[in-house]
Amino acid sequence: MPPKPRRPARSADPAAILWAPWRYAYLVAARPRGRPRCIFCYRQLSLAGRRQRLILYGDAHALVMLNRYPYNNGHLMVAPRRHVADLALLSGAERAALDRLIVHAVAQLREVMRPAGFNIGANLGRVAGAGIADHLHWHIVPRWDGDTNFMPAIGATRVISQHLAQCFELLAPRFKAIETALS
Ligand SMILES: [Zn+2]
Repeated sequence: MPPKPRRPARSADPAAILWAPWRYAYLVAARPRGRPRCIFCYRQLSLAGRRQRLILYGDAHALVMLNRYPYNNGHLMVAPRRHVADLALLSGAERAALDRLIVHAVAQLREVMRPAGFNIGANLGRVAGAGIADHLHWHIVPRWDGDTNFMPAIGATRVISQHLAQCFELLAPRFKAIETALS
């Protein structure tokens, strides 16, 4: 009897592998054992703690962090502080804070990194591509002409890590400046 054809793994998306191999490795390997920790949820953090978790800004309603597994340099995520998955559960204050932060983040990235454009959006549900489906978040991805070529595919994780630290130091003061004004 011929062997039963194996169903391909859902995560084995060739486009994902080609486009961002470091991200693919993360998605496959980083499934936590036991109780998963949400990357967006925290109570209080020291500056070192924020740096470690790449959190650029946080107030009572929303936060901004760098994506540890970016699709491009300067890939930010904006999320409500509350662990909610549904848009309808956001309060007016949370929606206003998220909106302000997205506008501020785009303005800062534009000044610091001079991208030619942006992708901004949210993936609602795993089927839509959400890596963390239980906590709403918006991606802000700066785009440059030619950034869809093979450069991202051959970039090593180590190189991306260096970019992350530099990127954090570059952007953190620009969010520090609005911390009092927005909180
Ligand atoms: Zn959460």
